[in-house]
Amino acid sequence: MTKEIQWRSRTWVVFYRAGHQIEAQLIRGAFQQQGLEVMFPQSFLSGGLGELPGAVLEQELFCQKQDFQLARNLITEYEKKRQLDWYCSTCNEVNGSSFDWCWNCQSAHSGNNS
Ligand SMILES: [Zn+2]
Repeated sequence: MTKEIQWRSRTWVVFYRAGHQIEAQLIRGAFQQQGLEVMFPQSFLSGGLGELPGAVLEQELFCQKQDFQLARNLITEYEKKRQLDWYCSTCNEVNGSSFDWCWNCQSAHSGNNS
């Protein structure tokens, strides 16, 4: 079942369940580079939606309904690449392979990914 939510006059659907908040943020960053808008529960909460059912408080990622297929394609790519995640040499945060800089401290990827 696809979960849908109405927010800001748009329909959002769950396209992925992230393992944790950091992964959700990584995916959102990668998708924004592709011009795709991504929301996850914390986004909704900080955006003032305020009345989400408890079940939504997993790390579910939402995209706009019309972007669903594209989002699924990107997730497939993401899952292929996730073994190539790299660790920031400055703050030790883990970053997705598609990132050229650390999401956390904005340090450039040193490029010594083995
Ligand atoms: Zn860093």
